[in-house]
Amino acid sequence: MKANDGYGVCKEDTKTLKYSIDLHTHTMYSGDSSTTVEEYLQGFSRAGLSLAAITDHLTIQGAVAIKGILGEKIVVGQEIRVKEGELIGLYLSERISPGLSGKVAAQAIHSQGGLVYIPHPGDKTRASMSQASLMTLINEGYVDVVEVGNSKLDRSSLSQEIVAEILETGAALASSSDAHVPEALGSSHTVVATLPSCADDLKRLLKDPETILVHNHFDPARKWRAKIVPSQLGSIRRATS
Ligand SMILES: [Zn+2]
Repeated sequence: MKANDGYGVCKEDTKTLKYSIDLHTHTMYSGDSSTTVEEYLQGFSRAGLSLAAITDHLTIQGAVAIKGILGEKIVVGQEIRVKEGELIGLYLSERISPGLSGKVAAQAIHSQGGLVYIPHPGDKTRASMSQASLMTLINEGYVDVVEVGNSKLDRSSLSQEIVAEILETGAALASSSDAHVPEALGSSHTVVATLPSCADDLKRLLKDPETILVHNHFDPARKWRAKIVPSQLGSIRRATS
């Protein structure tokens, strides 16, 4: 029997599937975050994360530095501005230049053995990929993972039309914090049954119907103390054929 706390979170499942991973996070190397390496390490630990991808804008420098400390717990990534919006490369060994088309950037990511992860699709407040551009890239086989939970968006801001269309494609799914401050690390995350050993393994886990997407809206820091406002997506399960 699964307990439900009123926000769609199945608590017993969360206990059974123990590994919380956050695949979209930032450090001071991003230019729009002040999180130092030391603060990142503390935030990672405090959030109880088992694995995180560091996805700074324009650089993999911070990710490489922190991977040097945390090893396999860190995936080196980069958030990349492309002509259609933004996309993220995971499991990168080299920086990708901005300004490419989504297709060319995706090819560059795949040539490194990485995964193409689309952050906050359809979010009109940022340089997000439109629904049409996303579906074109998915249908042409360039997309590995789509982010359907992002802590900078509350639940009502998530386009249910886009989520429904993404679900139909069978794409691997993730919910991530997009943390630009250490307190936000893990505020949204994905709970998986085992820790991924490589890019393909992560993609497989993110397609697993048992994987849980936990979405919380992180109310950004203001004069008063920042807080996490619960609005979980809960578990999204695909019909199995
Ligand atoms: Zn980001």
